[in-house]
Amino acid sequence: MAEIAFLGLGAMGSRMALNLIRAGHHVTVWNRSPDATAALAAAGARVAQSPREAATGADFVVAMLRDDEASRQVWLAPETGALAGMASGAVAIESSTLSPGWVRTLGEAAAAGGVALLEAPVAGSLPQAEGAQLIYLVGGDPVALDAAEPLLKAMGSAIHRVGPLGTGALVKLSTNALLGVQLTALAELIGVLKRSGADAARALQAVAATPVWSPVATRLTDSMLTGNFAPQFPVALIEKDFGYAVEAAGSADAAPVLAAALGVFREAIARGLGEANMTGVVRLFTA
Ligand code: NAP
Repeated sequence: MAEIAFLGLGAMGSRMALNLIRAGHHVTVWNRSPDATAALAAAGARVAQSPREAATGADFVVAMLRDDEASRQVWLAPETGALAGMASGAVAIESSTLSPGWVRTLGEAAAAGGVALLEAPVAGSLPQAEGAQLIYLVGGDPVALDAAEPLLKAMGSAIHRVGPLGTGALVKLSTNALLGVQLTALAELIGVLKRSGADAARALQAVAATPVWSPVATRLTDSMLTGNFAPQFPVALIEKDFGYAVEAAGSADAAPVLAAALGVFREAIARGLGEANMTGVVRLFTA
């Protein structure tokens, strides 16, 4: 069983770390807000006071953090960063949804310290994190991935090797782009249907019987029609991902559909919906 440091115990990370403990690994956890460590400590994790302390002596260091800035802080902060604690030959696994440019920069910093970086962003939300059913979209060194596979299998159900560092981020952003474009279009359509006097649920059931429907559309519309916006994947996080996707495209003109969806998410945040589940954007079109 491996010595693993897990950094970032938010909605996703806390569930993923628990699955590593359940699989029998020796897990040391760290989180910026220390309260989040209590449940993991009760499940058998050791608690570290900094990313660097957690990473010291670890074979693998896994991070599940909000964004590029959090990732930069946690891996590279001069006094407390995880990379400074890692031994040469250990493997760093970055699972957060980040920009491809930052992932490549982090890979260079890791390599300079003799550490291989794998980017391993995930598709799936809280139920999949809880049930070890995440889909991994992995970029980076194939030898490091061979070593890390048992860990990823303790947290996920599928591993896709997608290419060199940065490609995992691009694939993840593509996945979320397709999700968010469907989401914003469905939200708009619910507004159009309701304003036109149609029974939106019945109308969308009929659309769902045609080949244009997608598996995720059922979950999205159920949430939007029932008004259940309990956060799983909040508006603020998908807005972050659309910002990275438009940045990766080069400009809003190069990705006008993504830029339009980004505008919808920004408007939702401006109207106080940032912490609501992403499906809360329907309120922009139905309120
Ligand atoms: P979350 O609940 O908001 O957790 C974010 C984590 O990042 C927390 O541990 C937070 O620490 C930490 N963090 C934020 N800023 C930080 C900073 N400056 N320095 C150090 N730590 C910082 O988010 P989540 O839902 O777990 O998502 C984590 C990542 O997975 C994101 O990149 C997200 O896009 C991606 N993702 C999410 C889902 C989903 O359905 N939620 C699905 C797939 C991928 P504190 O506790 O101290 O705030």
